[in-house]
Amino acid sequence: MDKKTAKNIYNTLLQQYPDAIDSPSTLGRGVPFEVLILTILSAQTTDRAVLAVKEPLFKQYPDPHKLARAEIYDIEPIIHSLGFYHVKAKHIIAAAQKLILDFDGIVPTTMDGLLTIPGVGRKTANIVLYHAMGKNEGIAVDTHVRRLAQRIGFSKSSDQDNIEQDLMRLFPQGQWGDLTDVLITHGRACCTAKKPQCEVCPISRYCMYYHT
Ligand code: SF4
Repeated sequence: MDKKTAKNIYNTLLQQYPDAIDSPSTLGRGVPFEVLILTILSAQTTDRAVLAVKEPLFKQYPDPHKLARAEIYDIEPIIHSLGFYHVKAKHIIAAAQKLILDFDGIVPTTMDGLLTIPGVGRKTANIVLYHAMGKNEGIAVDTHVRRLAQRIGFSKSSDQDNIEQDLMRLFPQGQWGDLTDVLITHGRACCTAKKPQCEVCPISRYCMYYHT
């Protein structure tokens, strides 16, 4: 795919979903510590489910110092509804401990720093950098972004890192964070995993899947 087509797709999706960016149904922008913890918790579940535990979790553990001292069995009942609650409780406590140990309790502002935190890969780091700090250092490739990148023809790879590189080549850096938001919105609304609704899709004319 060429950059001009990619630009047309981006603009069409932005027009179709003007509320996609910073939608209240996403984890949104906010305090870096909260965005980091919520993004770690969002694995294998919906943003809506994660947002439901936000208040009770941060009411008891408002900062890394308090969370670092928590026991796994204290956290589990609060995040039980998210699934994988034992591993997730372990991860967020370990993340808080790492923040205390290596970063004076402050979420690092670089990709390299974030990648040293337990439970944080490039996807989570990209979300934290963009949504908590407004930095476009990469593109968060979640399950929706991966599926759409392959179907639309942004990438031929199934590897998360390769897809991110392909997207970074196609789109200007200033659009990277918002691109994730519009692709996720389109993935939920129209290009769903089970049954893409190609007949009503605003970008079908550009889509590789549609033309094969
Ligand atoms: S045309 Fe179909 S496969 Fe392509 S983006 Fe639209 S819904 Fe998805």
